[in-house]
Amino acid sequence: MARLGVLGWPVAHSRSPAMHNAAFAELGMAGWRYQRLPVPPRLFAETVRALGPCGVLGANVTIPHKGAALAIADEASAGAREIGAANTLTFAPDGSIHAENTDAPGLLHALGRSPAGMSALVLGAGGSARAVAWALARAGAREVAVWNRTPERAQELARDLGVDAVAAPVAADLLVNCTSVGLTREACAEPSEGPAVERSATEDRALNQLSLTFDQVGEYSDVIDLVYRNGTTPLLAAARAHGAHTIDGLQVLVAQGALSFELWTGRDAPREVMLAAARQGS
Ligand code: NAP
Repeated sequence: MARLGVLGWPVAHSRSPAMHNAAFAELGMAGWRYQRLPVPPRLFAETVRALGPCGVLGANVTIPHKGAALAIADEASAGAREIGAANTLTFAPDGSIHAENTDAPGLLHALGRSPAGMSALVLGAGGSARAVAWALARAGAREVAVWNRTPERAQELARDLGVDAVAAPVAADLLVNCTSVGLTREACAEPSEGPAVERSATEDRALNQLSLTFDQVGEYSDVIDLVYRNGTTPLLAAARAHGAHTIDGLQVLVAQGALSFELWTGRDAPREVMLAAARQGS
């Protein structure tokens, strides 16, 4: 039995088990299994250290553990180190832990074309915003601006990654929402401990929480929302109404998950099967 999983708190809403288990079934990988690993922050280090010796091959990492995942790793890719966060851990037989960040290349995969020469606005300054800003800047985006509700965090991100912090959203070719605005309440059914994800109070207010109006959303030709849920998000609904090319959070989830899958298994990930399973839900 080959075990993989996703470490998070909460993690009940994650579609990763559905998409990875569908990939195993599609490729006839009997005996492979991917499961939720709900671990509170105070137990993260000791639990993760125990996973390799228990026979777990690897794990994805989600809120709020991506920084801790990098910190616990014995070795990490240059990308994960520069971003300051890891979303993929691999446990070696000798007990050592390798950290990778597939959020960054996953975003570029989901975009489906090079961002070279494009201008981009990233909303948010958390773990995913760091990966997205780093990926876009490294891939040659002409300008990468970052806006965040708490400006000091955007300024810190900008200093770390060599991009620009802005006090208010600016027009650009590409808009990427890396905040948790747009998540529904149903996604937070699990008890949380420590820094929980903040949810938008109501859908109507979601664009305002991003400091955007409906008309301003029309200033972006490509819009990506990392948030995923049943149905569309307020941001993507507005972007589609303006005729923008849109990419939803499940497409991004599959793109990063497929890269993790290929890292652990050495097999080509069946992306269409994974996307269908992710869309079907848990
Ligand atoms: P994080 O580190 O907790 O960062 C959360 C960000 O959201 C912060 O910038 C925070 O701003 C902002 N925020 C939270 N509530 C807000 C509100 N009411 N109004 C305005 N801004 C608000 O989280 P993360 O790991 O970056 O993830 C962010 C979102 O992306 C989550 O919904 C996550 O599920 C999703 N995600 C999706 C994928 C995918 O593959 N589709 C991958 C990674 C993450 P402050 O700094 O002001 O608190």
